[in-house]
Amino acid sequence: MRNNLPALLDVLRVQFADRVLSSNAAREQHGSGESHLPAAWPDAVVMAHTTQEVSDVLRACTKHHVPVIPFGAGSSLEGQIHAPHGGISIDMSAMDKVISVHDADMDCTVQCGVTRQALNEHLRATGLFFPVDLGAHASLGGMAATRASGTTTVRYGSMRDLVLGLTVVMPDGEIIRTGSRARKSSAGYDLTRLFVGSEGTLGIITELSLRLFGIPEATQTAMCSFNSIEDATETVVMALQCGLALNRIELADTLQMQATNRYSHTALPECPTIWVEMTGSPATVENDMATFEGLAETARQIDRATTADDATRIWRVRHDALYAARALRPGIKGISTDVCVPISQLPACVSAIQEVIATTSIQAPLVGHVGDGNFHLVLLYDPESETEVREARHINSSLVEMAIEMGGTCTGEHGVGLGKKPYLQAEHGPALGVMARIKKAIDPDNIMNPGKIFDL
Ligand SMILES: Cc1cc2nc3c(=O)[nH]c(=O)nc-3n(C[C@H](O)[C@H](O)[C@H](O)COP(=O)(O)OP(=O)(O)OC[C@H]3O[C@@H](n4cnc5c(N)ncnc54)[C@H](O)[C@@H]3O)c2cc1C
Repeated sequence: MRNNLPALLDVLRVQFADRVLSSNAAREQHGSGESHLPAAWPDAVVMAHTTQEVSDVLRACTKHHVPVIPFGAGSSLEGQIHAPHGGISIDMSAMDKVISVHDADMDCTVQCGVTRQALNEHLRATGLFFPVDLGAHASLGGMAATRASGTTTVRYGSMRDLVLGLTVVMPDGEIIRTGSRARKSSAGYDLTRLFVGSEGTLGIITELSLRLFGIPEATQTAMCSFNSIEDATETVVMALQCGLALNRIELADTLQMQATNRYSHTALPECPTIWVEMTGSPATVENDMATFEGLAETARQIDRATTADDATRIWRVRHDALYAARALRPGIKGISTDVCVPISQLPACVSAIQEVIATTSIQAPLVGHVGDGNFHLVLLYDPESETEVREARHINSSLVEMAIEMGGTCTGEHGVGLGKKPYLQAEHGPALGVMARIKKAIDPDNIMNPGKIFDL
């Protein structure tokens, strides 16, 4: 494959001139990212500005049989942007225009490089917002490609639920449109959902139509501390079963709270903690927060935010959780693993994995979007220590096995990339073969992000 690279680069340089980058700095930035996995650099990077340019790059790469790795903001955690087979990283970050906002229909169309923060800034005057709120600086194209979710997914759903339609460039350069702006459709196969979560292995998303929501009238936030993680997770399950106006409900364990206090210079109780936010009308919010406080009878302390600034501070520490966890062992990135289980299985899953962690020497703070049954462990291991590598792998695979056995999934939101590839067979069985057949039908030369999700 790589023999064709010089000829391909000649072609690309004619069209893209200094937007073809081959310095080590550019290649390193596009082949390492936030993952714990060893970097794998692309051979060159192309900065794309339009859908037509993306089509031109893909046509040229197909002709020369050179791999293409789409790049949004590079925040993915499972090696999704790595280039284990070399090739061209196509950087979509300059495609950052909000194309249209339809206030009355509560939807918008954006280019793939727009970040969710930039979109919400753009929407500020409309009273509308886009709810998927990751802890990272990520592009909406990358978020769709990894089927991302965030703290408000318990209320609004994930990228799976909020993408109405896409413009996609296929591996041979053909440009297609999937879905529409209609809220529902029975018109044929749901290609939008096929591309959402495909991690750049089927085509490149250049535009997205997204659902928007009205900013709720009232919001209340509280932090609740518990004596045990079981008490905390059981409270989460009860709160969900009561159908309260929950906008977010998040969990951290004692180690994560210690990490948070060190990193964020706070003095929060160092015990299992739930963050909870209710939104809706003032009466609903007041009523449901009071109901929640009644349900949380095992809580040892409940602190309601009294001002909007207070609430922002409370959520800031939650959003900084990964960096706080990593700061427990400076210089160590750790495996940021995530699983998702049916909500009733959550207390058992959390308790069982904490028992496994206790048999190792690994520090593994826990934090999660528990309202969805989704939680993360940051496994802080030293890649130079054989024992720690073995222990971290053991925790990761035990967690995944438990989650799958409980009817859950090996990844609730971070995606598969390279890191979760070994677990897909156990999760999907023969359905994995169907995925591989779809991939071969759409990308017969395997040029789109090869080696990710599965090996062909
Ligand atoms: C501190 C931190 C917190 C995080 N919190 C969350 C969280 O709360 N929820 C969550 O879901 N994730 C979270 N993540 C993971 C990460 O932010 C998400 O996976 C995010 O969706 C990746 O977006 P990106 O723009 O950075 O994509 P990239 O990392 O650039 O790419 C991710 C994948 O998508 C593909 N891709 C990118 N753009 C396109 C495109 N236009 N068309 C087709 N394929 C494309 C890439 O090839 C790659 O396979 C977190 C990461 C960090 C570092």
